[in-house]
Amino acid sequence: MLEVTKCAPQLAIKNDLNSAFRNFFSKKAGFPKFHKKGINDSFALSNDQFKIKDAHVRIPKLGDVRLAEHIRFSGKIIGAAISRKADKWFIAIQIEITKPEPTHIGDSQAIGVDFGVKSLAVLSDGTIFQSSKASRKYETKLRRLNQELSRRKGAKKGEKQSANFRKTKRRIARLYARMADLRADETHKLSTMLTQNYGVIGIEDLNISGMLKNHKLARSISDAALSECRRQIEYKSEVSGSRVVVADMWFPSSKGCSSCGSVKETLSLSERTYHCDACGFTCDRDENAAKNLERYATSA
Ligand SMILES: [Zn+2]
Repeated sequence: MLEVTKCAPQLAIKNDLNSAFRNFFSKKAGFPKFHKKGINDSFALSNDQFKIKDAHVRIPKLGDVRLAEHIRFSGKIIGAAISRKADKWFIAIQIEITKPEPTHIGDSQAIGVDFGVKSLAVLSDGTIFQSSKASRKYETKLRRLNQELSRRKGAKKGEKQSANFRKTKRRIARLYARMADLRADETHKLSTMLTQNYGVIGIEDLNISGMLKNHKLARSISDAALSECRRQIEYKSEVSGSRVVVADMWFPSSKGCSSCGSVKETLSLSERTYHCDACGFTCDRDENAAKNLERYATSA
């Protein structure tokens, strides 16, 4: 506690420890455990413990720290959270603003969104949101670094961690942070584009059973991106005034024909093109699903 500002543990004791004990006494959680140094390092500051001036923030004991970007919102500053990602520190500033008037786009502008594995999303008008090519490159790099780590002294249990072991570990953490930033950038661009341009947005519900079945890295990442993207669409639509319609799990978004409405008995995952036996309609599989979601959303 003496090494750092006295402000750092204050809110941790006042808020975090309080809620931890509250949860313990109401039997919602176990007895509070101490945080381990190095895991989710963060602390909170109340509004009287820091000051923002121009592009700097004054943090007790650290002094003036330059902010990477100007604050885009004006309003009452409530507090801040300072946290570490890989070897960088970030500040999140909480500002109270009045809710902006929703911009009414109108129901005539409707879109369906099919989240995919191959691409991030396919829209009902045929637009494809590719996931970044860089992510595959990062995955290869990650595999290589993990192999490197296992060879370093300190990888075996009980062995003392060498400097090189820690160095590789740091590089892995940085790579993970970079990958997360890339994904966040993609989902934010998509969710902002959708909520700013469409009054009705049709999306599918999370396929929980499918998620549990698949342990592959690519799939688990795309599922996480999907739920994050949905969260963003939902909160951004509250500001834009768009209506988000979630089709339930049993809605045949993939198996149904978006042209005549007939539903296929079976559709294997390898069939990338949808071909309707009833009316002859042929379309990209994901686009067909997105078209179904759009129709579902407008009729709901
Ligand atoms: Zn058809």
